[in-house]
Amino acid sequence: MKTLSLLILFFLTNITCKESTTVYICNSPNAKRYHNSSSCKGLSNCTYKIVKIDIEKAKKDGKTLCGWEK
Ligand SMILES: [Zn+2]
Repeated sequence: MKTLSLLILFFLTNITCKESTTVYICNSPNAKRYHNSSSCKGLSNCTYKIVKIDIEKAKKDGKTLCGWEK
């Protein structure tokens, strides 16, 4: 039974990791950065909508991590 609970713990940890791949972007046609935090300095200038997207999608769109978060 101990193996089973370890297995469950492993899956739960995996789910948590997947959720952390969500990033924030400014929905502007000129925005080339993604942000780990919605309250990031780099997003404070955003005059468009701030949207939550998957990091993989952001990378596919050619976006890179914002300079404030390096
Ligand atoms: Zn940022």
